[in-house]
Amino acid sequence: MEKKQEMMRQKSEAGSVATNFPEVANIVMNMTYKQNGARSILRTFHFTPDSYAFFVVNCLRQDCVDGGFDLTQVVTAMIGNRRVDAKGALSCKGTDSPTGHSDIVYEIAVQYT
Ligand SMILES: [Zn+2]
Repeated sequence: MEKKQEMMRQKSEAGSVATNFPEVANIVMNMTYKQNGARSILRTFHFTPDSYAFFVVNCLRQDCVDGGFDLTQVVTAMIGNRRVDAKGALSCKGTDSPTGHSDIVYEIAVQYT
């Protein structure tokens, strides 16, 4: 519960996409989430100018502590260079579960106004 509230607080402090990146029309993040011993899940996140500029995706593993995937730097760098797409992979940074328990392969597309 506390973790969720902390996440909400960070989210509201991030401000909107419009405030942070006025030149952005929308952002789409597609990712394949893979957890050890589980089937891959395709997850999609849409950001509009009204969305929070908060690009941290939670880990779906139950016992994961402080995990998740922080795409803030990726998105910020993309917009800084006015790139329209980027691909990459990240491992969950959670510490309490076995390391490498989950990872994502992501594709991000940014549209500018
Ligand atoms: Zn995790």
